[in-house]
This record gives sequence, structure tokens and C-alpha cells, in this order.
Amino acid sequence: MNPKEIAQHVLLEHGISELPVRVANLCDEFGITIKVANSLRMKEYMGLAMVVDKKPYIIIETSYCIESQKFTAAHELGHLLLGHVGSWKDASGIQRPSETCIEPDANAFAEELTMPECVLMSCGITTVRQIKKLCRILPEDSKRTAERVRQRLKSGDPFTPTEQWIVRQFADYIQQHTAKSVYRKERAVCATNS
Ligand SMILES: [Zn+2]
Repeated sequence: MNPKEIAQHVLLEHGISELPVRVANLCDEFGITIKVANSLRMKEYMGLAMVVDKKPYIIIETSYCIESQKFTAAHELGHLLLGHVGSWKDASGIQRPSETCIEPDANAFAEELTMPECVLMSCGITTVRQIKKLCRILPEDSKRTAERVRQRLKSGDPFTPTEQWIVRQFADYIQQHTAKSVYRKERAVCATNS
């Protein structure tokens, strides 16, 4: 399975049926401890995934906004579930995956986990603005997904069997969140939160 397919199986197997996907809850279900830090001060790292004494950890840098932290957590969960952590430190002689390989894979996992294309397509969600409202993901992290959704809708690319299962799992959510009703419902959510 590729990273996108692995994310789809996580959605199915963990019974996720609505957006936004609660990444912290998923990490908890995987037995991963999330720790926050505001002193990493490493400009290029917004988070870290590590295994210490066989226990998995995700460290999130909290100086970024909550939407950014959420996508970072999904990205780091991808590193853990895709087997990246540790493998590229292995000195066994097996060729280690380079960062240029693992970073796009972790992003592909995180994008599908937090913004499943088949759900967005079924809801008619095609813009970064709409994705931010439904998925709580920033435009800088959602623009690739938005572009893919638009391309798939244009090309008539059918859902895979796995995506068909996801759409069934999200059926109630999709029914309540077509593009027309997004703004009204999101205003209601904002009113509830304020
Ligand atoms: Zn990474």
C-alpha cells in the first residue's frame, strides 16, 4: 500500500466518519504519546517523531497555530506508521530512505488522513477556503489536495473500492455537508465555540 492507501485504511479501521479528523485521538488509539514543546527552536522542524524504549512519541512545536500543529501531528503519525522512524538511522548496510523520499510520503499520508479526497469530492469541496472550514487545515497544507480534487472531479476519475467504503462510512456526514450548506453550518460551529 502507498501512503495514501495506508491513511485510508486508518480512517476505515478507526471508524472515522466525520471531519475534522481528530488526529490527537488517533495517536492516542495507536498508543502514541504526544508531547508539546515551545523550545525546539528548530526553524525547519515543526514536529518530531521518535521511538524511545520501543515507545512511540510525537513532539509538536506549539509556537505554530493549532491548524498547523494538527497537520504536523498527522505528518509525524505518517512517519511512525510508514516505518520511517529509526529506519534511516539503521547502520545495517541496507540503503536508507532519504529525507527527499520520506517527507513527500509523510505529507501524502497526512493529506489523505486529514482531507480524504473522496469525502471532499462527495461534499463538493474544491477550494482551500472550504477545506479550512471543514478540515481545519491551513491553505499551505491543503492546496495540493484542493488541486487534486478539482482535477479528479474534472476528469471523472472514479473512486477506488477503498474510497467507496470511506464514502459509505462518511455517508451521514456527507449528506449534511454538501458545499451549499458548509457556510451555514460552519457559522453555527463558530457560534457554539465562541
Ligand atoms: Zn517529516
